[in-house]
Amino acid sequence: MLPIDPTPLARREVRELESYNAGLSSEQVSKRFGISKIAKLGSNENPYGPSPLVATAISNAISDSGLYPDASCGLLRDLLAVRLGVAPEQLVFGNGSEDLIAILCRVFLDHGDNLVTVTPAFGLHTLYPHSLGAKIRAVPMLEGGSFDIDGLIEALSEPPRMLMFSSPSNPVGSALSASQLKQLLEVLTPATLLVFDEAYYEYAQGSPGYPDVLARLSLQQTPWIVLRTFSKAYALAGLRVGYGIASSPALADLIDRLRTPFNVNRLAQVAALAALQDEAHLKAGLEATIRERERVAKALHEMHLTVVPSLTNFLFFKTDQASDSVHEALLSHGVIVKPWREPGYRHWLRVSIGSREQNDQFLTALSETLQPAPAPFAHDDTP
Ligand SMILES: *Cc1c(COP(=O)(O)O)cnc(C)c1O
Repeated sequence: MLPIDPTPLARREVRELESYNAGLSSEQVSKRFGISKIAKLGSNENPYGPSPLVATAISNAISDSGLYPDASCGLLRDLLAVRLGVAPEQLVFGNGSEDLIAILCRVFLDHGDNLVTVTPAFGLHTLYPHSLGAKIRAVPMLEGGSFDIDGLIEALSEPPRMLMFSSPSNPVGSALSASQLKQLLEVLTPATLLVFDEAYYEYAQGSPGYPDVLARLSLQQTPWIVLRTFSKAYALAGLRVGYGIASSPALADLIDRLRTPFNVNRLAQVAALAALQDEAHLKAGLEATIRERERVAKALHEMHLTVVPSLTNFLFFKTDQASDSVHEALLSHGVIVKPWREPGYRHWLRVSIGSREQNDQFLTALSETLQPAPAPFAHDDTP
């Protein structure tokens, strides 16, 4: 007997959502194609791993695993507040920054509220708002990959409840310039919460022209929150720690009301603290990634592909084939990337910058996919 379908019990907005697609795991690809060496370049993970200080911190903390973690992330809060030059009460912590995105939506978005974002976008920036019945207006990025600042300003003329986007953009890799940021901030009103997802901050922060978003926002009167994460540059994606810097303690307090109290576990807290101590490890990883990124971008250009200049640990590029078919072909070479599926971007793929060896595996697989070698015995009679 089949179990009765529970779908009608779910809220309409949830029934309308597509099932979440987290991509294939290395194990799944390995099994399906019988390949042992997998280059997992679909989730913007850091190939160099966390600082060795993290392993030590975790093994020292593991015997306390029977105790609940510090609900306020006190040590991490104090250290970050000093590093960032903000009040400790301005900080909020999440089980990854995606936890904070979900909480922010639950705190601020009601049925019928408007959200402005961009497209293409990080999936969760539209998934959670949609699940709450918010109306989404997504402003397309310009040809060439920069933010359409006039389009965004136009979309803000009727102030939405929330403006949420990532800069540097996931998946595009580009960022708002200082003057674009200024223009945007000038039109925001107190009716709109700005959620500025800066997940790739560490990669971008040394690049010429990348604005000091936090410093600029600190002068802003209207409400804002900057989201950052330990998942990318600090290589702690598996432990789940993200944080937000809110414009005021009052905003942080609203967010904390809907946060589960122990959302950042004990090991994650000590790991993040340890990772912050090892600036040399962070710097070496950033430099290696940026060097590799420029090498891969050059190779993609040499294949005559359109590639957006990136400030992150990934590249967004376009081929003349459907992204799903390129993705499938790359999988058969053991390479996992992220095919883009938003309307208008179905020839685009996002590839994370891995180790040199992984990047080479990707580049070889891609060139074989796009220019298949002629079959040895094929002959062509056409003139
Ligand atoms: C990776 C990513 C996140 C999520 O990071 P976690 O802290 O691992 O949840 C958030 N926003 C963007 C744009 C990302 O690319």
